[in-house]
Amino acid sequence: MGKDDTRRLIPRTDRLLAHPELQGLRGRLGETVIRSIIQEIQDQARSGELAPEDVEPEILAAVASREATSLRPVLNATGVIVHTNLGRAPLSKSAREALLTAAGYVDVEMDLPSGMRSRRGAGVRQALLRACPSAEDALAVNNGAAALLLATSVLAGTREVVISRGELVEIGAGFRLPELIESAGARLREVGATNRTHVGDYKSAMGEQTGCLLKVHPSNFQITGFTSGVSVSELRSLADEHHVPLVVDLGSGLLSPDPVLPVEPDVASALTAGADVVIVSGDKLLGGPQSGILLGRAEIIARMARHPLARALRMDKLALAALEATVSGEVTPVTAALHADPGRLRERTEALAEAVACVVVEHDGRVGGGGAPGVLLPGWAVRLPESAARSLRTGSPAVLPRVHRGACLVDLRCIPEDDDERLAAAVRAALAQAGEALGTGGS
Ligand SMILES: *Cc1c(COP(=O)(O)O)cnc(C)c1O
Repeated sequence: MGKDDTRRLIPRTDRLLAHPELQGLRGRLGETVIRSIIQEIQDQARSGELAPEDVEPEILAAVASREATSLRPVLNATGVIVHTNLGRAPLSKSAREALLTAAGYVDVEMDLPSGMRSRRGAGVRQALLRACPSAEDALAVNNGAAALLLATSVLAGTREVVISRGELVEIGAGFRLPELIESAGARLREVGATNRTHVGDYKSAMGEQTGCLLKVHPSNFQITGFTSGVSVSELRSLADEHHVPLVVDLGSGLLSPDPVLPVEPDVASALTAGADVVIVSGDKLLGGPQSGILLGRAEIIARMARHPLARALRMDKLALAALEATVSGEVTPVTAALHADPGRLRERTEALAEAVACVVVEHDGRVGGGGAPGVLLPGWAVRLPESAARSLRTGSPAVLPRVHRGACLVDLRCIPEDDDERLAAAVRAALAQAGEALGTGGS
């Protein structure tokens, strides 16, 4: 059959579009997307990759399997709780429900009894103040970086932000906090040395040009050995002497101390020690949606809320709803993974190992997301051949294992227990695929 004959046999776009099954799927995918899928598959037939009679079934299958979002759910088998590449914190059940509630029209800026406009984020504010009574007021913005930008812009303007050289942090993917602060016009006044900064270093840097004092928790690295820093309470005395505000960026965001993370600073302690404003991320240890939270003195929070930047950095209603539900709701998946019962974790790991005929090895979990860098969370993993990793990642459900020293490690710390069976099935499928690729599968 000649090329022209083949072309004539390829079903036409209008006929395909009218197919009853495609009509049924049209609510989920728009016509533009469906047309592009049709065109792509027709092109495959025109180039001879596909037989004309396979065009219609191929299109129906492609449209039926295409999800509205290209984001795919992943089972996190790395043991890293706040995994930045997997969207940091997985939301609690109540936060997921809150997202759906907020998806339609909601009273995000409306007082329904009076019919008057109300302050955006009132629910989140109340939830944060209940969870952190030592704060006079609270404001949530788009993320931690936005909170820091807002705080330093409002408090320093184009004046100086005084900060220790040991706290000039790069938070990831090339983004550096000092550059972020300077991008809004404030000037950095670095004091001390990388490993040691003393009160006197801050003192001699302060004067007319000082806008605020900033202390940043070096959340994603550790400097050990000959080190010293200046505590929040010491900085408080200095701030009082010079009548300048003190901002403390804690990064990961424990609202109150957690015994599993004894050296991780928390908001309540920083406020008690004298910070005027404390900044934390909402999607690290707090376990909520992407957000940045400012807690502290009422007068300063009010100035931030009024600043034009606050409008550019404001949270959307979906994240507001999820954050409120996170702060006032049940134990989050992040907290659950952090406090996973070792006995239960071991039992589940052994059950998986048995189901897939592989061995259990000791494996430490991590907080991740640039939090608690030195903290190991002892646990276990099922060890698979390294070749299983790719099949796991591309399987259904997608599973992200840890590849380490020639092995593929499956850690159950961050897997919800309900998913254990799906995980076992995914591992079995990946092992079968890896075995076939090596030529050891089947006979
Ligand atoms: C993570 C982090 C930030 C940035 O917060 P995002 O929510 O990622 O924008 C800022 N400061 C510190 C110390 C951090 O750890």
